Parts: sequence; C-alpha cells; structure tokens
Amino acid sequence: MKAIQITQTGGPEVLEWTDVPDPTPGPDEVVVEVAAAGLNYIDTYHRTGLYSVPLPFTPGLEGAGTIAALGSDVTDVAVGDTVAWSADIGTYAEHMALPAASTVPVPAGVDLEQAAAVMLQGMTAHYLVTDTFTLAEGHRCLVHAGAGGVGLLLIQLAKMAGAEVFTTVGTQAKAELAAGAGADHVILYRDVDFGDSVEEIAGERALDVVYDGVGKSVFRRSLDLLKPRGVMATFGNASGPADPISPLDLAPSLYLTRPSLFHYIATREDLLRRSGDLFAWMADDRLDVRVGERIPLAEARRAHEMLEGRQTTGKVVLLPS
Ligand code: NDP
Repeated sequence: MKAIQITQTGGPEVLEWTDVPDPTPGPDEVVVEVAAAGLNYIDTYHRTGLYSVPLPFTPGLEGAGTIAALGSDVTDVAVGDTVAWSADIGTYAEHMALPAASTVPVPAGVDLEQAAAVMLQGMTAHYLVTDTFTLAEGHRCLVHAGAGGVGLLLIQLAKMAGAEVFTTVGTQAKAELAAGAGADHVILYRDVDFGDSVEEIAGERALDVVYDGVGKSVFRRSLDLLKPRGVMATFGNASGPADPISPLDLAPSLYLTRPSLFHYIATREDLLRRSGDLFAWMADDRLDVRVGERIPLAEARRAHEMLEGRQTTGKVVLLPS
C-alpha cells in the first residue's frame, strides 16, 4: 500500500509518499481502510521533532474509515463497521492497524469525512469548555485563532455554553468565519493590539478564561487580561512555545494549565462520551464542522505548508484516494 513516511525530521519536504508493507492486526487490533485523515497542528510538531517520535514513522493521529480485518481477540466490532479515531499515529496511509479500543463507532447520520474532521479538534474544544474551565452563562472567554480547526469549534461550543466570546484572527475573511460561528467580538490582531481591544470592550482584567493554542506571540499579553482567579489554558504552540514566566506573573491568583487531549480521553468512557456528544450535535445541526480544504494524501506536503503558512480555515482533510 501507499503511505506518507518520515525518515528524518524537518520541513514539509520530509513527508514522502511511498510504498510500505500492508499492515496486519495484532490480537487486540483492527485494520482500517482509511477514508479520510484529519490534518492537525500536532502533525507538524511530530514532523519537525518538537514532539519526538521514533523514526521512521507514518504521521497522522486522526481519521475515519471502514474496518477491513480483525485481530484474534477482537469481538465488539466487525468487518465493514465504520469507525473514527484521534490518538493513533500512522493515519497518513491507505490502511492502518490500531487498537480496537481506540476506535469509536461513526453513527449513520455522520459521513466519514465529517467524522475524521471532528474527532481531534472537536474533542479538544469539548474538554476545554466542559472540564479545563467549565464555561457557563455570564463567563467571558478569549479564543485565539478563531477561524482555525479548533477555533471554529471552540467558539460554537462556548456559545452553546452561554459564554461571551472574544476571538483573534489574522484576516478579514477569517473574521467573517469566526463571526459566523457565533463569536461576539472578533479582533483582527494584525491591525490592533488584541489586548487593548479586549480591554476597550470589557475593561481591565475582565476575562474568566483564555483558550490559547497560539502560544509564543500571544501568551504573555493574554495573562494580563484575566480576572483574579481566572484560568489560562495554554494548549498549543502555533506561533512557537510560550516563553517561560515567573510564578509571580500569576500573582492575581491566576491558574495556569497546559492541557492535552490525550489526558481527557484516557478512559474509554470519556472517549465515547466526548465523541458521542459531537456526533449527536452534528446530526442535529447544532455543530457545524467546516472542512476548508480537501487535499489528496499524496500531497500532504502542500497541506502542511498551507497550515503552517496560516492559509487554512476550519479543518483540512487528507484523502487517500
Ligand atoms: P489551526 O487551524 O488553528 O491553525 C493554526 C492557526 O494559528 C493559523 O491558521 C493562524 O490563524 C494561527 N497562528 C497564529 N500565529 C501563527 C504562526 N506564527 N504560525 C502559524 N499559525 C499561526 O490549527 P489547529 O486547530 O490544528 O490547532 C490549533 C492549536 O491547538 C495548535 O497549537 C495545536 O497544537 C493545538 N491543539 C492542542 C491540543 C491539545 O489537547 N493540547 C489538541 C488540538 C490542537 P490566524 O491567521 O488567524 O492567526
């Protein structure tokens, strides 16, 4: 079969479309024919080596497809079932083997491309608004990169929870998408200082929580916007890892957390609950999963260039055929 392989870390050029052996399932595994792989920022961290993965490897944690073979001990799924996953490296491939317990069933009302598009970024938005900081009516939150994959979903879930949503975006076109997702205040951070804009609208130290997937370029300024006892959820590094701070910088009794999806779907129960909520909201048209780009998997290099070049909006899915 064909897959993307990385034999050395580096830029997008290290993503090679190549022949690899067909996978066979271990006793607890299934082999899935991949219908769509989701592109996520973490794939770029794996590619560059910011997050270390033993070489060589096939990247990609997220996808959806149809079960093609079962391991000897697998009893709760069958060949032909449609499933999705979000935490198993090796998805940039025509087929992959993964633990049956990592997969979730895709319900009839959700197609496989949409399922691949929502799993990782959707469950991230889910845990951020329900558990990292439990948003409710009257809360004010700031979502950085509001037109991105996580951003558009996070805005929608924050509005479902009743919060007032501030968001930052890089272009006018992205501003329109973020507003369409329900953001109350959309800030074009290239034109103005985003912190000044938040303060002009809401006053000094007015936010209950900042959800920051951008990191270096916004982290420090964002801290100053939080209410006493507010929560800084720094969950990503799109602009690079945030610079170190002193504990004294948290002196207004702030809480700083660096959450990771994998700790919020560590149990099968959490995985099924979060993915099940998302699929139900999609089937009811309460959650819009915007696929901004569909790119052949063989052109994963171009997809990474676009993501890192801030040219994407919403989700990018990679299609093996
Ligand atoms: P996005 O689709 O949001 O793409 C990143 C966006 O970040 C860009 O489109 C851009 O939007 C903005 N950005 C700001 N500065 C830069 C920069 N210097 N270089 C590139 N982009 C920049 O990506 P994802 O939705 O996949 O991920 C968003 C963040 O969430 C990432 O940091 C990712 O690692 C993190 N994440 C963390 C998880 C966790 O559990 N900890 C799980 C999932 C994602 P604009 O043009 O508007 O500035």
